[in-house]
Amino acid sequence: MLREALSKCICGEQSFLYFVNERGRVGKIIITVIEVPLYICSKCGEQFSNGPDNIRFAKQVKEAVEMGIKRYSFKDVRKAEVKGLTMGGWDARISHG
Ligand SMILES: [Zn+2]
Repeated sequence: MLREALSKCICGEQSFLYFVNERGRVGKIIITVIEVPLYICSKCGEQFSNGPDNIRFAKQVKEAVEMGIKRYSFKDVRKAEVKGLTMGGWDARISHG
């Protein structure tokens, strides 16, 4: 995994990478996603994820709804995908400011 442990916040401070549980929503269906990578700024509290993670999150939530999954781990789904697909763009670094 080449995701950066630190990323610069819009306020200028460094944000640290955390793995948090997030909820995704498609219509009325709510999916719980475990350990989603998220940068959180210690100064202003701003939370953001990088672009590829965002895209992946949205795609996974949609697929989970289609498969009837209510809860899954962000990392596990990704690992499953890595076996069959090349993860183009996954390691793209965040461009922030
Ligand atoms: Zn900040």
